[in-house]
Amino acid sequence: PIKTRFAPSPTGYLHVGGARTALYSWLFARHYGGEFVLRIEDTDLERSTPEAIEAIMDGMQWLNLAWDEGPYFQTKRFDRYNQVIDEMLEAGTAYRCYCSTERLNEMREAQMAANQKARYDGRCRFHEHNHTSDEPHVVRFKNPQDGSVIFDDIIRGEIEISNQEMDDLIIRRTDGSPTYNFCVVVDDFDMGITHVIRGEDHINNTPRQINILKAIGADVPLYGHVSMILGDDGKKLSKRHGAVSVMQYRYDGFLPEALLNYLVRLGWAHGDQEVFSVEEMKSLFTLEAVNKSASAFNTEKLLWLNHHYINHLPPERVAVQLDWHMQQMGYPLQAGPNLVELVKLLGDRCKTLKELAQSAHYFYQEFDAFDESVASKHLTTQAIEPLTLLRDKLESLADWLNEPIHSAIKATAEELGLGMGKVGMPLRVAVTSSGQSPAIDATVAAIGKTRTLARITKAID
Ligand code: GLU
Repeated sequence: PIKTRFAPSPTGYLHVGGARTALYSWLFARHYGGEFVLRIEDTDLERSTPEAIEAIMDGMQWLNLAWDEGPYFQTKRFDRYNQVIDEMLEAGTAYRCYCSTERLNEMREAQMAANQKARYDGRCRFHEHNHTSDEPHVVRFKNPQDGSVIFDDIIRGEIEISNQEMDDLIIRRTDGSPTYNFCVVVDDFDMGITHVIRGEDHINNTPRQINILKAIGADVPLYGHVSMILGDDGKKLSKRHGAVSVMQYRYDGFLPEALLNYLVRLGWAHGDQEVFSVEEMKSLFTLEAVNKSASAFNTEKLLWLNHHYINHLPPERVAVQLDWHMQQMGYPLQAGPNLVELVKLLGDRCKTLKELAQSAHYFYQEFDAFDESVASKHLTTQAIEPLTLLRDKLESLADWLNEPIHSAIKATAEELGLGMGKVGMPLRVAVTSSGQSPAIDATVAAIGKTRTLARITKAID
């Protein structure tokens, strides 16, 4: 059975690059009916924080990338790593190295001076010594000396690295702690990972990890290294380009469906289709179709998708996400239309939920001033007559619904021999304070009778 994992180091929030890697791993598992593991790589005690762990899990939950197993924490598995190291020492696939820091530094300097790559020369591997294991030492992996490691990267094709390029990796430090590459290997083995899908920044670790996996008798998983995400200026995506944290996208008013759709297309294509529901992604996604060149982040396209999802997801679903933004605005929600209705009213006009929440103010709150630029044009003395007549007609309406409201506006215009706009625009400014709103009859219907009449009165006073 297929098993993939997402293995973030909790040193910061979940960024869009990590989220895309997680998405690809998750989709791959889902596509083949396999399992998806979350593993927190928290061995770097200096840089890992509980807040980052929480932020990563929050981001995954918001995106709805559910894991089937975990979260595992590497810091809770030290006994297991040490057990494997002891077995390797026993089996002779690893050895204790007693070389002093001074010796290693001298060796490195000499190698660099000779224009060679710095690498451990294998002294403790090849030469007799009479150190004993109670003296300070590290444990090194006996990397094969000949041949090469070849693996067929699912995204990038065949990759071959000569074993001579690799030195004997330290797998346990002097203080007894296992090192990063080693922990990853034991985890992937113990967790039965069949496909390692991760960022291309790990590609250099792969041959080392494969050698260690072979040495401990593990099956070597398949690897797929996902390319980098660039900003719109062609440089590696970073904070300079604006939001990179997944949760920042939430705060900025994006729907998880839109971000997922955006991320899946960032480096993967299925014909020229742009919009994919999560169900479609699961059924169509394959790693073979992932692009090996870097992809550039395009905020305009993300906004386009977000607008699409605001208007095509069930409004109930959009309303759930909108709720948070409405709370942020501090609106008294019972004063206006329910959120499902609000989504239907304003969705088409907004690219983000934040924008939607901001533009909804007149449904929930009274205002003291009008947008001057439109008021000076539409709320002039000429507007008093149509607004007065309209107010009377609206007041006498028995049913406060779009249709009768529309008829009242129309009748007012006809009686005064005016175009619809000469009644509709003053009305719009009067009830919304601005020159923009959804269709005026629907807007007035949602604002409600009492408030509409009061606002008209205020506008013509
Ligand atoms: N912990 C690594 C990272 O956050 C990922 C390692 C892996 O996927 O093997 O970049």
